[in-house]
Amino acid sequence: MTATNRRRVLLAKPRGYCAGVDRAVITVEKALEQYGAPIYVRKQIVHNTHVVRTLEERGAVFVEETSEVPEGATVVFSAHGVSPMVHSEAAERGLKTIDAACPLVTKVHKEAQRFAAEDLDIILIGHTGHEEVEGTSGHAPEHIQIVDGPDEVANIQVRDPDRVSWLSQTTLSVDETNAAVEALRARFPNLIDPPSDDICYATSNRQAAVKEIAPECDLFVVVGSANSSNSVRLVEVALDAGANASYLVDNATFLKDEWLEGVRTVGVSSGASVPEILVKELLERLAGHGFGDVEEIETEREKLTFALPKELRARRGKDG
Ligand code: SF4
Repeated sequence: MTATNRRRVLLAKPRGYCAGVDRAVITVEKALEQYGAPIYVRKQIVHNTHVVRTLEERGAVFVEETSEVPEGATVVFSAHGVSPMVHSEAAERGLKTIDAACPLVTKVHKEAQRFAAEDLDIILIGHTGHEEVEGTSGHAPEHIQIVDGPDEVANIQVRDPDRVSWLSQTTLSVDETNAAVEALRARFPNLIDPPSDDICYATSNRQAAVKEIAPECDLFVVVGSANSSNSVRLVEVALDAGANASYLVDNATFLKDEWLEGVRTVGVSSGASVPEILVKELLERLAGHGFGDVEEIETEREKLTFALPKELRARRGKDG
């Protein structure tokens, strides 16, 4: 094969697990170790089919609502965070709770509470129905309205246009969120910003890494589940940044041979809830199609880690 028709993979870094997902998955594993199966988990602990299935095999039971958890049992709340009402429901049923909400989601909850305490109208940029958005809204239900993007800004009704603030879901497209904020500021010139970005470091870093390599890619494959907001955003970012085509695959078996026809360069990344084993399997499958030459492009070094939820730390302390 000559240099001009060389097939290659450009592998984005950072990709895959973020600090919040890592902590949430370890939380369920430790809860299973310390309390024994079954451990109930409200909603998918993180939005990844493989992770959920693996934890189920070890004794985790995933439920949609706390009402499905037997009284007195232990329930873990997912990385996406919950509203205070969910904590109250669990307390009423006598459940032991372990909250695996990512600290960066909890930060947004606190911002919502603070803006609500100042009696501001709060515009939450995010996807209606997403668990994180439901959880954040529940921290200031009287003050929050959700907008899904710049197009919805025109429909917003507020009490006082000079007392409007905004927050966002942590896993949105950086560029689209900026566009929504610009539209908000055009309508409300005195718009009050959150103290720091709500889109988390992991979302921004994974999007920046994809942007860096997508212009060179004929095809960009993102490993992630369809309900993973940050994974879906990576596909959009790859297309916007110049990849000819981009697809989301839950695992390597979803890669279609026809996608590779005429392709020289394949970009690969994975969402923040995706274990590295799934990327490795995709790379093996690509190698089987002649894409064995893999170059990893690192755009940012991530070092952040979070301590486990306090309920597990306390128990570990007691156990010595
Ligand atoms: Fe936390 Fe961001 Fe990971 Fe979500 S994507 S769990 S907010 S670090």
